[in-house]
Amino acid sequence: MADYIYTMEIRLTPDQLKGVSLVQDIARAAGMNIYLTGGAIRDIISGFTIRDLDFTVQGNPLKLQKDLEKAGVRISAVEEDIRMILLLLPGNVRAEISMARTEIYEKTGKPPIVSAATIHEDLRRRDFTVNAMALSLNEGSRGLLLDPFNGVADIEAKLIRILHNYSFLEDPSRLIRATRFAARFHWPLEERTQARYDAAKEGKYIDHILRGSIGHEIAQLAHEDDPLNVVKMLEKEDWLKVLHPHWSTAKIDTSGLGQLMKTRQQMVDLGYTPDAGPAVMYFLTSRLSEKDIADLRKQIPRKDLVEAWRDIELHAKELAKRLMGKEAATPSRTWQLLSDARPEMVLFLAVTAKQQAVEQKIKNFLTKWRQVQQRIPLPEMTELLITPQLPEYPKIARDVFMLLLDGKLRSRTETLKFLKPFAPPPPPPPPPPRRGRAAKAAAGAAPAVAVVGKKAEVAKGKAKAPPAATPSALSLSAAAKPEAKGKPKTAKTEHHAPKQAAKPAAKAAPKKVPPKKAKSKKKR
Ligand code: ATP
Ligand code: MG
Repeated sequence: MADYIYTMEIRLTPDQLKGVSLVQDIARAAGMNIYLTGGAIRDIISGFTIRDLDFTVQGNPLKLQKDLEKAGVRISAVEEDIRMILLLLPGNVRAEISMARTEIYEKTGKPPIVSAATIHEDLRRRDFTVNAMALSLNEGSRGLLLDPFNGVADIEAKLIRILHNYSFLEDPSRLIRATRFAARFHWPLEERTQARYDAAKEGKYIDHILRGSIGHEIAQLAHEDDPLNVVKMLEKEDWLKVLHPHWSTAKIDTSGLGQLMKTRQQMVDLGYTPDAGPAVMYFLTSRLSEKDIADLRKQIPRKDLVEAWRDIELHAKELAKRLMGKEAATPSRTWQLLSDARPEMVLFLAVTAKQQAVEQKIKNFLTKWRQVQQRIPLPEMTELLITPQLPEYPKIARDVFMLLLDGKLRSRTETLKFLKPFAPPPPPPPPPPRRGRAAKAAAGAAPAVAVVGKKAEVAKGKAKAPPAATPSALSLSAAAKPEAKGKPKTAKTEHHAPKQAAKPAAKAAPKKVPPKKAKSKKKR
């Protein structure tokens, strides 16, 4: 049997994984059975990007709100009628928790009658087989996959299949969803589903779509990896004008959107995780009137998305202004400013900046300045024992990087001169060899020998360099602000005292200590 927990653990991002534990623990503490459901399961199994986490609990998730908020979760929206809460988990992870429910559709175009139910019943009201699975997160059954409609087989066959013949009639928003998934995954509709889809189109079922569903479908576009392709398909199928009568691909800033998605990928490759959603909405609706945009926004349930989209231009302007000012007078200051800015703002401004200087600074931040890290002399730093094991390492590495960025360390010699005072004292040499019983007692000294051995390796240039202090790591981990001048002095006073204390011991076994100084002199 497949180990779905293992698959989940390797497929989710670290933040998503933490989010699963957090929600799971809160639901369990409240005595509710909890399952990971819907698209998250589909994407875990199929290998596609997991965009958000859908949880289903047997019970009322609205009761979990307080505990969730205490744990640092933001509640983005609450849909009381179906007892669903939309969340933003730490690390910008989107999630929703729904109550396991049945839906009885009595009248076309009217909302269904909703009742609390078991997870098994809940799966029967879902849209497609690939979305009708649940993974138990409960003690005792954690990892058990509920797949009553054989969704795994349809994922393997790459097919979108409804659960029953009335699916599109009951909820016409599934027509839009079917098109969206077909466009995203490039999976066709299964034959009978296609026949039902065509009949539904012919019969204009879409006229009975519920308003609430429209808002949900609009918001989903913000998170597509290739939104243009999805919107084109929606337009081709006549669904785009259902989302808004004035919306068409002509209203999209396609070049801006393309640039945005390219820059987003570039940032993802560099280790950032910008939420491109608000910017995607901005470009998808660039040529719509203010009023049409306001209409679209009104329908979106997630208010955080709406607010971020509404304020995106204003925030970008503010960042641009700062980038033109004193705060960004040098490359290192600009680096700091952009590292502290929200990645989504850097992303948006990278594409929309009007001032060439701003555009250039962001470009440098994402490309040229990153190459400066290659000038950090990592092998020599290892030789000087300035390695990530040192508590002050992040700051030293960051300071070197900043000085290099500003052109204040122009050569390798200058860089090494700057670094030297930070070198910690060499480790104490091993005690002199003992004989007999004393030798046994000295067994505990082995680590010291190992250290010397390791150091010898370093001196010969065999030891591995420490992991590169990547600019993104530097920007994220460095707590201290750049204060290049004066720093070496502090470090000097800190390190010199123990260095001297170690001197007599070094004399005791001079040959075992590698000729580090001589070697670095040679290099110079
Ligand atoms: P995405 O990757 O776009 O988030 P998703 O399948 O997770 O895809 P959501 O809109 O997040 O889509 O919905 C979560 C789950 O809720 C779906 O997988 C599906 O099981 C169920 N669902 C959503 N909308 C409908 C609907 N209109 N009819 C039936 N089930 C639905
Ligand atoms: Mg989802």
